[in-house]
Amino acid sequence: MAKQRVLITGGAGFLGSHLCEKFLDKGYEVIVMDNLLTSTIDNVSHLFGHDNFTFIKYNVVNYIYVEGKIDLILHFACPASPIDYIKHPIHTMKVDSLGTLNSLGLAKIKKSRYVFASTSEIYGSARIHPQKESYWGNVNPVGPRSVYDEAKRFSEAMSMAYHRKYNIDVRIARIFNTYGPNMRPDDGRVVSSFIVNALQNKPIEVFGDGSQSRSFCFVDDLIEGIFRLSVHDNLNGEIFNLGNPEEIKIIDLAKLIIEITGSKSEIIYKELPEDDPPARKPDIDKAKKIIDWQPKIGLKEGLKKTIDYFKKMIEP
Ligand code: UDP
Repeated sequence: MAKQRVLITGGAGFLGSHLCEKFLDKGYEVIVMDNLLTSTIDNVSHLFGHDNFTFIKYNVVNYIYVEGKIDLILHFACPASPIDYIKHPIHTMKVDSLGTLNSLGLAKIKKSRYVFASTSEIYGSARIHPQKESYWGNVNPVGPRSVYDEAKRFSEAMSMAYHRKYNIDVRIARIFNTYGPNMRPDDGRVVSSFIVNALQNKPIEVFGDGSQSRSFCFVDDLIEGIFRLSVHDNLNGEIFNLGNPEEIKIIDLAKLIIEITGSKSEIIYKELPEDDPPARKPDIDKAKKIIDWQPKIGLKEGLKKTIDYFKKMIEP
């Protein structure tokens, strides 16, 4: 049987780069398109020279074409950390509208299965807790985070439109906070920022009073979830929360990272960004039942692995 071919947009990013490794390990031919706006070639440079790996530096906002068959498209291109998408608001909106349109168009021509990287942000400042896939969300359509949240919501709507109109085998992954190796040390996300500052004994900046919560999933667990969602049959038009339901307040995360690193950092408090969701936790019952997936790596264990990664990066 001919090799399965997967196109990963954003394949040099944090999640994309782990997906490249996963699919190569599983014997797929992997083609990456990435314009390296918020990602880095360093995440995939070790794969150059691999027979089944092709990297194309390309902005998927423009018309996409790839020769030959494509069995699976994973649309993961998009700035994903709040400081990145607020810095690149128009590109963020383009990559999750025009980029989604182009990649869905390619899926239609190539009869590919299509997995869209959505986000827990589509739930906004959720009024139900934990969040189930059936919840419609509570998003400010004009706030600073709207460039990301509304683009992701639009992409979900467009994916479902292609599914309904053209019978594309679409699957939507609503990805909750994820952390681990290949995050950029300066991406501004909470886990990377706290670890990088703790390792250098610099102040740890907690936004607001730190009582807001998140639920953090280690990247290996998340990637296994995306893989299962991608290869499982009969999931056309299905939506899955993927994340770790282990919830923690941001202040407690700061204390935990100080404890694990043995840091001398002090905690300082900064203003809470506008529309920062007060709580977030996935209900993953659907993923458990249908794709037999749940995270295996607890927060402490995952943080230790991530700390080791950043240590090597900061103190080579
Ligand atoms: N946060 C913080 N200090 C930081 C970065 C983030 O206190 O240096 C808080 C932020 O206000 C939010 C949470 O940590 O409540 C998670 O932020 P992140 O940017 O990682 O992702 P989000 O879940 O908000 O998309």
